[in-house]
Amino acid sequence: MGSQYQKCLKSGMPKPVHPDAPEQSGAFQAFIAAKGLRATRQRMAVFEAARSIAGHYTAEDLLKKSRSLDRTVSRATIYRAIPLLIGSSVIREVDVGRDHKYYLAEIGTTNFRAQLVCESCDTIIEVDAPFMEWYGKAVAAKHGMRPISQKLQVTALCERCQKRKNLRP
Ligand SMILES: [Zn+2]
Repeated sequence: MGSQYQKCLKSGMPKPVHPDAPEQSGAFQAFIAAKGLRATRQRMAVFEAARSIAGHYTAEDLLKKSRSLDRTVSRATIYRAIPLLIGSSVIREVDVGRDHKYYLAEIGTTNFRAQLVCESCDTIIEVDAPFMEWYGKAVAAKHGMRPISQKLQVTALCERCQKRKNLRP
C-alpha cells in the first residue's frame, strides 16, 4: 500500500496536502470528547498513525503502524477508533468490494476522486476526476433526479501485476 503509493508519487502524482496537523488533532479530540470519550494515549497514537500512512491502508496496517508508536494499542482500540477517525474527517473509508475496507488520510480536497483498483494486488490509485461530478449531475438532471453520491472505480491490473501475469495492456 504505502510503497506502491510512493511509486505513484514518484511518477508525478500530486502529493497529498494534509490539513493542518494541530487543527485536525483538535477536531479529533473535540469529536471524541463530544462522544464522552477521553483522548487516551492509545487513541492519539492511532490518530497519528492514521494520518501518517501514505496511500490506502487496511485496519491491520493501521494496527501495525499504531503499535510502532505505542506498543499498548490493541486491535479493539483500532476497531473502535476507526469510526471516530471517519466521523471527525481524519480518514475516509474506501470500499472496493473486498472483504476488508481500506482507509485513506483525508487530503482536504473537495474534488471528485476516481479510484483505479488493481484486481490482483492492494494497489489503489486516486485521481481527480471533476468531469465525473459534472457528468453525474448532468445525467441525473436529465431524468429529473438530484444526485446524492457517486463513485467511479476502475478495476484494472497495475504494471507490476501485468508483468507478473505476462500480459500487455
Ligand atoms: Zn497489482
